[in-house]
Amino acid sequence: MTFQGSGSINTDNVSASGGGGGGLGGGGGRIALGGGAGLILTIVALLFGVNPGNLMGSGSGSSTPAASQSALDKHISECTYEMANVGDEICRVVATKASLETVWKSIAPQYSAPKLHIFSGSVNTGGCGSATSATGPFYCPADETIYIDTSFYDDVLVGQLGGGNDALSQEYVIAHEYGHHIENITGVLNKGQRMGNNGSVRIELQADCLAGVWAHHADDGTADALLQPLTQQDIDQVGKTARSIGDDSIQGSNSNKEGWTHGSAAQRARWFGIGYQSGDPRRCDTFATNDL
Ligand SMILES: [Zn+2]
Repeated sequence: MTFQGSGSINTDNVSASGGGGGGLGGGGGRIALGGGAGLILTIVALLFGVNPGNLMGSGSGSSTPAASQSALDKHISECTYEMANVGDEICRVVATKASLETVWKSIAPQYSAPKLHIFSGSVNTGGCGSATSATGPFYCPADETIYIDTSFYDDVLVGQLGGGNDALSQEYVIAHEYGHHIENITGVLNKGQRMGNNGSVRIELQADCLAGVWAHHADDGTADALLQPLTQQDIDQVGKTARSIGDDSIQGSNSNKEGWTHGSAAQRARWFGIGYQSGDPRRCDTFATNDL
């Protein structure tokens, strides 16, 4: 959705790398958005109790051409809200991160912000092994960093999964990963990960709800709101995107529900809505209900 700000964007805690091809690597612990070939591989691996790292094969990390890295760094440092608003996806990600920090600082001042790392091709994380674009956006709890290759938006989210290419859908992806950071701080991530797939679904739906909480506060209608008020069309689009990454959308409605890890299409859209309508993170306690 359109940002209200103008001029340069705060890029504290934002870094970049990539442009090189290369290594697939081991390493687990990544919490993904849902969707994407890498995620399907991970789901399959989880179903069969295999460490996805082993399945993907280990390897050395990618080497990164310095030129590409500096180009991405330069792009980020030059981002403005105007660029984000005309569809520059990298700047939109950076602006969303800044907006999330503002919102969560007001809701939970004691929480520290995560880092954001924008990469191209593949990345060596600080705590979750290496990953490629095929993994989709993810949060690594070990280094408290959100990772994204923005090619995910067009290539996977829209191209493979049928999600929206609108601004709010792209922002939702970052807000969802930020939600995993909140869950990491509150201990929900740790708790849920010990509960198998049932816990995983609750983690993911809570992250969707927390993304909705961000949207509620970001478009609160005040003069200093971070976003212009969301329209019904925006809400419809983000709902479509949330549904596109539901387990039934990705794996088929007849797939074994016990293998689901992210929640159904309807559940994902519903929990985003609960967060958006209420603006209250306490309403996002997906572990306290049997009615997901
Ligand atoms: Zn997730």
